[in-house]
Formats: sequence, C-alpha cells, structure tokens
Amino acid sequence: MKPDDVCPRAERNAYPPNPPLAPPIFPSAVYQCDDPTQADGLLAGTIDGYVYLRDGHPNADWLAARCRELHGAERAIVCASGMSALSLALLAHVEFGDHLVVSSRLYGRSLRLLTEETARLGIASTVVDTCDLQATAAACNDATRWLIVETITNPTLRVSDLSALAELAHQYHARLLVDNTFASPIVCRPLEWGADLVLESLTKIMNGHSDVMLGALCGRAADWERVVDVCAMWGLNSAPFECWLAGRGLATLAVRQARAESNALQIAQWLADQAAVSEVLYPGLASHPDHKLAARQFAGRYGTMVSFTLAGGLDAATRFIRASDQIVFSPSLGDLSTTLSHPCSTSHRALSPAQCDALGISPGTIRLSLGLESIDHIRHALEAALNEAR
Ligand SMILES: *Cc1c(COP(=O)(O)O)cnc(C)c1O
Repeated sequence: MKPDDVCPRAERNAYPPNPPLAPPIFPSAVYQCDDPTQADGLLAGTIDGYVYLRDGHPNADWLAARCRELHGAERAIVCASGMSALSLALLAHVEFGDHLVVSSRLYGRSLRLLTEETARLGIASTVVDTCDLQATAAACNDATRWLIVETITNPTLRVSDLSALAELAHQYHARLLVDNTFASPIVCRPLEWGADLVLESLTKIMNGHSDVMLGALCGRAADWERVVDVCAMWGLNSAPFECWLAGRGLATLAVRQARAESNALQIAQWLADQAAVSEVLYPGLASHPDHKLAARQFAGRYGTMVSFTLAGGLDAATRFIRASDQIVFSPSLGDLSTTLSHPCSTSHRALSPAQCDALGISPGTIRLSLGLESIDHIRHALEAALNEAR
C-alpha cells in the first residue's frame, strides 16, 4: 500500500475478535450502505441502522435508551444540551398562534426562550407562579398548548404539584412539560404523575462530572411523530464522545445521588442551627413550604440542593464566598464535589430586587449543590467560611 492510500477506514481496522468490556465510541460522521435498497430503508427508518451522524448514532441511542428506562418512558432522545432539548420540544410541538403557560420559577434561559424567542415566532406565553394552582388555572386559555414547569425550582427548591398541574393542563386540552433537572429520575419520574414530556439537562447530576453538555427529552410514542426529524433538521443532535462520557456518568447516578442526598439533609439540618444563617430551604426539612408535597411525590427523597440565606445580606455573602476555599463558587450543579452559587449575581442577575423578592431570593441567598465528600469535610468547610460571614 502506498503511503497516500492509508486511510483509517473501518474495514482496515478490524474489530477485535471478542467483545471489549468497556463500551466503544462511534465517532463516525457517516456509515457505509450495502446498496440503494438498504440506503433507502435506513433513511426511511424501516431498517435498523445509521447513515449520517446528525440523524442518529449508536452512542446517542444507547444513552437515550437508559434515559427512557430511568423515566419509564416510551420514547427518549438525546440532544446537544438541555436547552436543545427544550428547543426540540417547542419546535416539534408548538406553532404560530399557540399559547404557553410558563412557570415564573423556570431556569433563566428557559424563561427567556419561552417568552422572548417564542414571541418572535408568534407564540404567546403567560408567565405565572405555578406553585399557585388558582393563578395557573387563570393563565390557561383555549389556545394553551403546553404548561411548562420544573419539578424542583432554583434556588428556593419549590416543588411542583405534578398531578394537579397535569390535570389542569389536560382540562384545557394542553399538555404538561416538566424540566426534571434538579430532581433527576432518582427523585422523581414525572411521567408517572401525568406529565406528557420530561426534560433533563444531562449536563448536571445525570452526567455528574461537569465535563459534558447534553440534554434529553422523554415522552410517549404518540407524541414522537415529529421529534426525531425535527432534531435532525434543526441540528440539535448530540456528539458521540459526549454521549459516551454521559453514559459512564449515568452508571453511577444512583450511588452518587444517594450519597449527595444524605449530605444534603445533614447539611440542611446543621445550617438551620447556625447563628449567621437566617433561613434554610430544603424540601426534606419540615420547615420547607412544600415538605408535605415533596414527601408524597418523591417517596422520601429530597434531592441534592440546599439553599440558605445569610442574615448579613450581600456583604456577608461576599465574605462567605471569598472565604470558602474548599467549596468553590461555580454557578452550576450536580458535580462530584460540593459547589456553591450566588443566585443574585448569576442565575437571577437580570431580575429587579422586587422580582427577586417575589421569588424569595435575597442578596444573602447561597445555593449549595452537595457532592460526595465526607459530611465532616463539608461541615468543616462551611463552618470556616461562616466564621467570616458573621
Ligand atoms: C442547566 C439547566 C438547563 C439547561 O441545560 P443545559 O444543558 O445547560 O443547556 C435547563 N434547566 C435547568 C433546571 C437547568 O439547571
């Protein structure tokens, strides 16, 4: 073979004669077809297999199958990010003239997508506090197609009453889309409570290692007619290596989450006794406004996020964050290590003080994403930083 002719093609890199234990990565952007009949069947979806990466690939399908099983869904698809998954839900299911009812407590980018971007496309939306069922009912009308909420909201960790919201949506012949990112399927499987579509940002605890950006959408076969095509057409697809990494992360989700939840409950209880702390929000504490709902809906699990307010306001929060060298200020969640965020300067910085106040967020609010360290390590780290926040 001439040096010019050495191409790394599959047939020249024979597969191992016996299977590897670790799953393979398939980075191939395109696949080989036997003949026109097969190519036609593959593209039509009547024959199993792949043609072009944007239309689907084995690493995405493997990951989507795990998401589908975890949520007890009939269908699932993996997208490039949580926001891609939300865009896919919109593009597949909503059109000009439709109306959306959107929770005021949604993730900031979701809220903007579902109000500002949709408005450009002739899709109307009403923003409402979906913890108030009466106000939510009043926001629905005959053009309402989707009601969009989060299972556990950021950063006050309010819990959505999914069966009540599903019933309400269905009364209006609308459907319920639930962003389950803060709960994960370990804490909640929204389809079992009547939701029609579930979104997960796999970027957070599902992957759990802060090294991947992906999202997933899970739902029913009856709602899937346009989903796969729309994902390919709008280019919302995932990359093979990301899916492979997320598959590895997902394999430890249950053990990671159990450990982080145990840390979360103990830290929430400990924070409630600290003089510098004026309020602790964790759905597992009896003091949380949604504790009873959470206990019923989540079967004794309460998630890995804890928020608290420093009595000394922004000044105390700044001193606390600067002093916190073991728990870093990193405004995302679901990492292996415990991280903190400051909603007023990050996720909620676009809001006015009055809007923040209405959501129960103050300049002294700190949000913790509990990780897998020993409880002593986390407690000592918080104790040292709290000493600076008095
Ligand atoms: C991070 C996040 C998203 C967006 O997911 P990306 O993967 O960052 O695009 C959506 N909803 C919630 C609740 C999130 O935390």
